[in-house]
Amino acid sequence: MKQSRNVKIVATLGPSSSDRAMIKTLCEAGADVFRLNMSHGTQADQRERYELIREVEHELSRPIGVLADLQGPKIRCGVFAADSHALSVGDAFRFDSEDTPGDAGRVRLPHPEILGALTEGSTILVNDGKIRMKVTKAHGDAVDAVVEVGGEISDRKGINLPDVVLPVAALSDKDRSDLEFACELGADWIALSFVQRAADIEEAQELIKGRALVMTKVEKPAAVKDFASILDASDGIMVARGDLGVEMELADLPAIQKRLIRDCRNVGKPVVVATQMLESMISSPVPTRAEISDVAGAIYDGADAVMLSAESAAGDFPVEAVTTMANVALKVETDPHYREMIDTSRTAPAASVATAITAAAREVAEAVDVKAICCFTHSGTTAKLAARERPNAPIIALTPMVRTARMLTMYWGLHCRISDEVTRFKLAVVSAARAAKDMGMADEDDRIAVTAGVPFGRPGTTNILRIAPVNEQAIYEGESGY
Ligand code: PGA
Ligand code: MN
Repeated sequence: MKQSRNVKIVATLGPSSSDRAMIKTLCEAGADVFRLNMSHGTQADQRERYELIREVEHELSRPIGVLADLQGPKIRCGVFAADSHALSVGDAFRFDSEDTPGDAGRVRLPHPEILGALTEGSTILVNDGKIRMKVTKAHGDAVDAVVEVGGEISDRKGINLPDVVLPVAALSDKDRSDLEFACELGADWIALSFVQRAADIEEAQELIKGRALVMTKVEKPAAVKDFASILDASDGIMVARGDLGVEMELADLPAIQKRLIRDCRNVGKPVVVATQMLESMISSPVPTRAEISDVAGAIYDGADAVMLSAESAAGDFPVEAVTTMANVALKVETDPHYREMIDTSRTAPAASVATAITAAAREVAEAVDVKAICCFTHSGTTAKLAARERPNAPIIALTPMVRTARMLTMYWGLHCRISDEVTRFKLAVVSAARAAKDMGMADEDDRIAVTAGVPFGRPGTTNILRIAPVNEQAIYEGESGY
């Protein structure tokens, strides 16, 4: 019997992974979702990748998710007259609005509203946090700062301001253009960078108009602090450890990651753990022991997905990186201690008929040998509820909607299949049995659980749980009635 993996693998595409053969190999190695990073490359590059993904999806007859990741309001300093300047501890440095090239003592910060929001004592981080400064005097249209950790500063380096909620628009002009582009292309998920407040997400949703689900990247202290309302407004969460590790103390990251995973699991929204998971595999075919343990840790915590960034986008070993994640996942998920951890951390869902059915499906699968839980779903809601339960048996999500199948690729444990529209429950059972056999999850003499909503065609009505023998298909086929 095929062993199925529950945790999903998100792989970022880039120069190392943009041809059709490589995209197909990554899928076969275990990638479930591809991330198109709008911070790099042109819209034409992303369109080409998107089209190749859809070709491979068709060829492999397996839904593949696409996550378009918007750059967000990334703040950068202006340019310098010289190539770069070395700043040392104790040096004075000024950020101002003057439109002239910078020098060893000053540079332009082309965001007047940010200059106005900084106050004495605010931290300014430059170049991925490599240089650290503290504001000594705020003038409104300029700030004076003192260097606390030195380093090289040069043209257009990224600036992080961890302790102020920035008065900047959540979406830049580039983001708005990329968002519309990604929606028209058919991206299943849109990721929002540097989200600070729930209103940022709502602003994006007004433009997305339901065409894609919204994944919020938690990478600002303000988003961690206000996580309850951020989670409420989002369809999914990414623990964006790269920028989060610049803006917060690194030692805080593990606890934040665990809290975010727990909160997402409670409400049944998918959570992706991202950045530096297998960093050394950018240039090495084998990971470090610490990286293996990090991937395993995220899976033990119950994350829906683990993500590769540069490892698959720009590294020398994209396939090995995906294979490593898939191998770690299979080892973790067959460890009896993993089951114990998942079971003890489960909380009760909000009461409804559908949650009672999906919880019952999980309990039946624990009590008797059920090879797969098959959920008929239109919008995806029932499959999401089944995933929230983290059952011991694989979940097969059967849907006639291609869009639903693609978006569900982000959720723990969901194996999605496009099915015909069913009109009678017994045909649903037959089609579920066939899918379970085709997918290598059940044999003739096994049992499956099937959930559906009767009458069919009415959304949000899941109300039936049936435990059926797979070979029942033979009894029903060709017969009418029931
Ligand atoms: P990025 O986001 O790769 O777009 O920066 C992820 C992170 O910051 O961890
Ligand atoms: Mn980031």
